[in-house]
Amino acid sequence: MQVFERGWLSSNCVLFEDDSGATLIDSGYFTHAEQTLALVHRAIERHRVPRLRRVINTHLHSDHCGGNALLARRTRCEIVIPEGNSFGVRHWDQRFLTFEATGQHCDRFDFTDTVSAGDVLTLGGQEWEALAAPGHDVDSVMFHCEDEGILISGDAIWEDGCGAMFPSANPKTLDEDFSAAFETLGLVESLDVRVIVPGHGRPFTDAEGALERVRSRLRRLSADPARNGRHVVKVLLKYRLLDDRRMSFDTVHAMFRDVPTIEHCNRDIGLAPAALAERTMDDLVKVGAARRDGQWLVDA
Ligand SMILES: [Zn+2]
Repeated sequence: MQVFERGWLSSNCVLFEDDSGATLIDSGYFTHAEQTLALVHRAIERHRVPRLRRVINTHLHSDHCGGNALLARRTRCEIVIPEGNSFGVRHWDQRFLTFEATGQHCDRFDFTDTVSAGDVLTLGGQEWEALAAPGHDVDSVMFHCEDEGILISGDAIWEDGCGAMFPSANPKTLDEDFSAAFETLGLVESLDVRVIVPGHGRPFTDAEGALERVRSRLRRLSADPARNGRHVVKVLLKYRLLDDRRMSFDTVHAMFRDVPTIEHCNRDIGLAPAALAERTMDDLVKVGAARRDGQWLVDA
């Protein structure tokens, strides 16, 4: 098992090799797809694995599945997605996929198979069980190898946080997502885990410490929807900025008018779109994540 730790814009990729070919868990962001392909090629050449056989996604956020289209086209690998996403992907239906709602980009891909909680997969000669991991994303899965005590956790738990909790058109959904996220953490706690390989950041061993940090963070955010909303819009703007490198203020303002998830966040924040755009730019500048240059917001 090999972990490719990527920058913040792309999720980590985990590569397993066996005689029938390699399996890649998550494929990074679409702007990094060529890089992901090169990483995979180098690894399988070095280890004399015949080919990339399949890609399996923990969940379908664009930073985890953005490489799917290119990898499938170039390597003819299978694409395995969480069962809950099958309808959305089959019809590329934006009501069920998050790319449009969050203002992110993902090239269209098809899938060959799905994975559901309870499925047992052989990866690198070991048995891994797929576990449901709703919360940050309702359909996401994690992979647990009991023999080795390893958990591939996607965005359900990182060393110092977890994936953002996105408000949607239905305000009730956010409450449900928070309770699901806490349940998922309970599931992680119940497992025998020596190492967690998160979707972002380095693999870590202190699961207990991470659980405590993620729980207190989620408690703070769930108690204060406006604070959660401000966090989500900051993440979405920074994400877009990482992608575009620089955005004109007009583009930022258009984003704050047009992206549905930002509108849903603003239901809890309660500012005019233009005011929220300005405030979010200020927030990013304040923490050193961006700088203003003339009429441009520039990634920092
Ligand atoms: Zn995610």
